[in-house]
Amino acid sequence: MSVYAAPVARLIEEFEKLPGIGHKTAQRLAFHVLNMPIEKVERLASSISDAKLKTKYCSVCGNLTDSEICSLCSSNTRDESVICVVEDARDVAAMERIKEFKGLYHVLHGAISPMEGIGPEDIKIKELLLRIQDKDIKEVIIATNPNIEGEATAMYISKLLKPIGIKATRIAHGIPVGGDLEYADEVTLAKALEGRREI
Ligand SMILES: [Zn+2]
Repeated sequence: MSVYAAPVARLIEEFEKLPGIGHKTAQRLAFHVLNMPIEKVERLASSISDAKLKTKYCSVCGNLTDSEICSLCSSNTRDESVICVVEDARDVAAMERIKEFKGLYHVLHGAISPMEGIGPEDIKIKELLLRIQDKDIKEVIIATNPNIEGEATAMYISKLLKPIGIKATRIAHGIPVGGDLEYADEVTLAKALEGRREI
């Protein structure tokens, strides 16, 4: 039996399911919510369900969007001959923050991981190949994370691109090995992009 009234116990339980939230933080958040005015609580609740209900993946690049095609893919100021391949939609945001990259993206939604049983067919590699077919692509920058899975994915993609004559580059190891692209600071990420080399 929880020491809290059932609805409060349930709220704490739900917070605890979130990543990085332990029991103590969950309790703190729950009590914070209970102390908020009802309008703010409702705004919070609807922003959570709205974010989930009103966003989907861009049908071109796989980035998160609230329309069929994301704002980056539909922009006419981006360089369509360069595609940056990332694992996650959060990595698009990280790359956009450095304001150095003017091309388009392709989100894989994961990385190849034999350990976890994730093969090339489980991520959006086929979609990448379909997308670059018959297009004048000058370069595909592979910006998967610098860990085993990210490297394996980069190698796999570069092997597919070479025979079709597309230049594949890998961002430099400015990012700590094992680190996540989305946590890299802007200077590091900008340097990693600048120092990319052909693979
Ligand atoms: Zn897009």
